Amino acid sequence: MTKGSKMNPHQCSFCGRSKDDVMILISGMDGQICEMCIEKAQEIIDQELHRHGHPEKENKAPDTKYTDEIRLIPPRDIKAFLDDYIIGQDDAKKVLAVAVYNHYKRLKQVQAGKDNPDDDVEIEKSNVLFVGQTGTGKTLLAKTIAKLLHVPFAIVDATVFTEAGYVGEDVESILARLLQVCDYNVAAAERGIVYIDEIDKIARKQDNPSITRDVSGEGVQQAMLKMLEGAEVLVPPQGGRKHPEQKLVKVNTKNILFICGGAFDGIDKIIARRVNTQVIGYGKKEDEHIDRENLLQYINHQDIKHYGLIPELVGRMPVVVHLDPLDLEALRRILTEPRNALVRQYKKLFKLEDIDLEFSPEAIEFIAEKALEFKLGARGLRSLCEAILTDAMFDLPMKNKKGDKKLVIDRAYATEKLERSRVGRLRAA
Ligand code: ADP
Repeated sequence: MTKGSKMNPHQCSFCGRSKDDVMILISGMDGQICEMCIEKAQEIIDQELHRHGHPEKENKAPDTKYTDEIRLIPPRDIKAFLDDYIIGQDDAKKVLAVAVYNHYKRLKQVQAGKDNPDDDVEIEKSNVLFVGQTGTGKTLLAKTIAKLLHVPFAIVDATVFTEAGYVGEDVESILARLLQVCDYNVAAAERGIVYIDEIDKIARKQDNPSITRDVSGEGVQQAMLKMLEGAEVLVPPQGGRKHPEQKLVKVNTKNILFICGGAFDGIDKIIARRVNTQVIGYGKKEDEHIDRENLLQYINHQDIKHYGLIPELVGRMPVVVHLDPLDLEALRRILTEPRNALVRQYKKLFKLEDIDLEFSPEAIEFIAEKALEFKLGARGLRSLCEAILTDAMFDLPMKNKKGDKKLVIDRAYATEKLERSRVGRLRAA
C-alpha cells in the first residue's frame, strides 16, 4: 500500500484505480479495496489453499445470488436505466436493451423447453457487436447494464489472447472470468453475459502474408468462434493457460450472450469505399444524402469482414451497432448530466471539505472544447478537470480553515490553470 493512497478515499489502495473505474470500493480502517483486487486476492487464497492441500476450503459452496427465477425487464425500462448514466448513443442503447431482453426470454424458453419436449422452436441467441471510436461509451454501456442484470456478467479484453500453444492467454479464460464472477456456479455462468472488448485487435492483418503465423489473429478468431456459436468448452478455472495439473471445468456456451466491442480504427475508409460505389452505382436515388462526418452509422457485416474478422465469426454476431463520435454538445452533457457526472463528483469532493464548488457554463464549454481539440474524447474530460482543479484541491484543507465557503470555476480560471498544467503544456507543444 502506498503512503498516498491512505489519504485518498476515492481510489483502491491496492491497484490505485479510481472510484470511477471500479464498480465497488469497500473501505476498511486504513484504506479501500476494489472488486477486482478482491477477486485477485481470492484467486491467490484459492491457489495457496490448493497448494497446501485444503481443497475443501477452496471449493466453497456455489453462489446462490443467481437464482433460477428470471425476471423480465422490458427494453424500454432497460434503456431508461442506461439513459441515467450514458449520454446519447440511442441506437446502441436500444439494441443492447433488446438483446438483453431477448436473452432473458430465451432463457425462459430454455427453462420451459425442459418441461415441454414437443416445443421444437428454438430461439437462437443474437450476440452483439459495438463499433465506435475509443472513449464513446462502449465499455460504459457494458458496465452499466451489468448493474441491472441478475445473470453473471464479465468484461474481458481480446488483446490478451493468443492461439493455443503461444505466449498469452487461452481464449477459454474468457469463461474463467465468468466463472469467477459467479463463484464457480457453472449453471449460472452458462446463462451469463460476456463483454469482449477490443475485438478489432484480433482482426487478420491484411498485409500479413499467410506464410508467417498470425498468432494473435485468425487462430484466436477460430477459437473464439467455437465459443460464440455454442460449444462445450473446457475451462481452466483460474484463467490463463491450461496446465496439465489444473482441473478443467466444462462449460456449455450455448446460452451465454456475447457482446463484443471495438474501435475498428480505419474502418470508415472501408465504409466510404462501399458507400461511394453504391451511390454511383445503378439504381440509387440521386438525392440520397450521406453523412460523411459519421460514416460509422452505415456500418454493416461486409465492412467488418473486410476489416479482417473471419466471415464465420461475423456471422455469429448478427447485431452490429455503431456508437456516435462525441461532439461538443455530448461532451458538455457528459460533464454535467449523468448520475455520476464528473462535475457532480468534484462538487461532492469539495463538499466534504464544506466548500461549494461551482462551474460556470462557460467553463464547462471550455473543458468540452479542449477535450474535442485534444481528441481525447470523453476519456480526456477527467484529466482536464484534474489539471484545472489540482491547485484548488491541493489548497483545499487550508482554504477551509480560512473560511472560504465557495469556489467558482469560470472560463478565465480554467484557462489559466490548464495553461500552467502539464496537460496544457504538453498539448500546446
Ligand atoms: P470505450 O468506448 O473506449 O469503451 P468507455 O466506455 O471506456 O469508452 O468511456 C470512457 C469514459 O468516458 C467512461 O468511463 C465515461 O466516463 C466517459 N464516457 C464515454 N462515453 C460516454 C457517454 N456516451 N456518456 C457518458 N459518459 C461517457
